[in-house]
Amino acid sequence: MTDDNIVIVGGGSTGCTLALLLARQGISSIVLERREEPLVHPAAHVINARSLEIWHQASPSLAEEICALATPTEKLGSIRWCCGLGEAPLGEIDVAADPQLQERLRTYSPFLIFHIGQHLLMPVFWAALEREPLVDFRRGTIVERVCETADRMVVDIRPRLGRVERLVAPYVIAADGANSVVRERASIGMQGRILTHIGSVFFHAPRLFGADMPRPLLAWIYEPRFCGALVSHAADHYVLMTPYLHRDQAVARDSDAFWNQMLPEVLGMSHGFTVRSTGTWTMTSQIASRFRRGQLILAGDAAHRFPPAGGFGLNSGVQDAQNLAWKITAIINGHADDALLDTYDPERRPVVERFAQQSVKNFFRLDEVTAPLGITNRAICKATEVVARPPLCWLPGRLLGLVCDRATQLQTRRTKVLLAGGARGRRLRAQISAAIPGQLEHFVFQGLEFGYIYRGPLIAPGSDDTPLEQSDIVTYRPTTTPGARLPHASVLHEGRPVPVHDILCPDGLTVLTSSASQWSAALRTQRHSAVLPIVVTCLAAADPRDQGELLALFEVGHRGAVLVRPDGHVAWRTTKPAPEGSSDLNRFLEERWLPYWQQTRRQQV
Ligand SMILES: Cc1cc2nc3c(=O)[nH]c(=O)nc-3n(C[C@H](O)[C@H](O)[C@H](O)COP(=O)(O)OP(=O)(O)OC[C@H]3O[C@@H](n4cnc5c(N)ncnc54)[C@H](O)[C@@H]3O)c2cc1C
Repeated sequence: MTDDNIVIVGGGSTGCTLALLLARQGISSIVLERREEPLVHPAAHVINARSLEIWHQASPSLAEEICALATPTEKLGSIRWCCGLGEAPLGEIDVAADPQLQERLRTYSPFLIFHIGQHLLMPVFWAALEREPLVDFRRGTIVERVCETADRMVVDIRPRLGRVERLVAPYVIAADGANSVVRERASIGMQGRILTHIGSVFFHAPRLFGADMPRPLLAWIYEPRFCGALVSHAADHYVLMTPYLHRDQAVARDSDAFWNQMLPEVLGMSHGFTVRSTGTWTMTSQIASRFRRGQLILAGDAAHRFPPAGGFGLNSGVQDAQNLAWKITAIINGHADDALLDTYDPERRPVVERFAQQSVKNFFRLDEVTAPLGITNRAICKATEVVARPPLCWLPGRLLGLVCDRATQLQTRRTKVLLAGGARGRRLRAQISAAIPGQLEHFVFQGLEFGYIYRGPLIAPGSDDTPLEQSDIVTYRPTTTPGARLPHASVLHEGRPVPVHDILCPDGLTVLTSSASQWSAALRTQRHSAVLPIVVTCLAAADPRDQGELLALFEVGHRGAVLVRPDGHVAWRTTKPAPEGSSDLNRFLEERWLPYWQQTRRQQV
């Protein structure tokens, strides 16, 4: 490998996705990962269909391997609120129980939203990196310093066995997670707030739920000794989480002892479970002030982190990687100018800001369910802030930990009323149960999953009512509005039906039209055709009877066209036929795209 390798710091889901997408385009990279083995303790579990589409783009066999790990939503779809795991639920949302929703989901993508624990996902990624000849995957390697010279990045690394080494690279991608050292050393600040801290335990319990009480995907538990959430994972594994205010509380200071005492009480069993690991993490909603400084680019949690309420974290890092991969490829191959990477921040920032806004909204909207009990996320966040500020932060840690433990116990005991069975308890149960259907957006969010759109210099100005703004969160409205992800459809390609995203040009632009010969002829002689790779592809429905429906879905009429980028996002579209429509396209490409390509050509002359 030469100094032309892209250096990716962090072998998490973001770094792995980027390395594999680059390899697919023939670009080599070095992935530096401080851990020797993937983390056992799970974090993400909601894996969007959009992420699977992107992994399929990186490697169809990888996407298949990941799908094989999944617990389909129809088997694990219920979100439960309860006063104990053995108790009848206070209420439930069952996303699997809506056949119309399930039917709709199958039309949006070749993939479905899946539940796959990150602890199962990461070994698959790491094995894929090990197999990939264009990826030099260095486990057990800590990145200590990244700095910029006139035209290169210098990276100092410390392998577990060996001396400090220096790498030189054209670009460094900081995908080193929420506590990114690379970001910190580059003095790129995070804007936003800390919401709270969470302690969690990962355990195996094969008999936790019986036939009379099916396993929920997620259960919020409100009982006098414990308030928190249970997440179900594959093979009878679970994560139980609870918030805390200060690092000297028992759950954080001595987490093994805390969970050994708490777990039997919450599970209602003194044996029949095995603790695998315990951990803590901090819930924040923060976005880096910039995603690029020179040749250093931030991606994934290093660039943005949100509450997991909605499952946008891992999924948005995968989207960052996709947005970067084709741009880096075009630059490294000498086709595009470095300025192409300046479009990364303006395209991704509004999307991740929207995800941050929605996950915070989901997190606080949970208060509608629990406010009648006097227990709210707002109060927990407020208390977290107060404890971190003077005068409380001046108290000795141990004392403050005890105070916070006591305050948490008092808060938790408010749930007693639910189990007491009196008139007030019945009234509260009814109030809680009535508020649960209002939480739907938290769990069904295809409007955001597929409807996020890009704006910026590479995208034709579209109508003002973008899909994100017009859609409700729950419902996705397929559209070819510029910036949107091209809707999924099955099309005829080389005599067989394939998903339309599979026929997009991986390193250039694709014009999809049902009048391919007219559009090809009109585009062939243009100035940009010598510089920009553009492929004109015939848009034909897999079943000829569906052709009208396909053209209506793509909103291009019988002779118009839609221009799609390698990442599957629409750059431009028209209902006008060639040559009138193609003149508009030529103008758009000359004004918006050629500046990023022209300069390279000038440099090469
Ligand atoms: C409880 C919980 C539930 C969640 N649920 C969901 C969900 O359902 N859906 C979802 O989309 N997201 C979810 N998330 C968020 C998701 O886990 C993260 O967004 C995701 O892991 C970010 O991936 P990443 O690759 O950007 O960062 P990370 O996964 O943090 O990976 C960064 C990597 O960089 C390595 N590294 C760090 N520093 C260095 C260094 N100096 N040198 C070398 N290597 C380094 C680390 O070891 C790590 O492997 C959840 C998070 C939590 C905590």
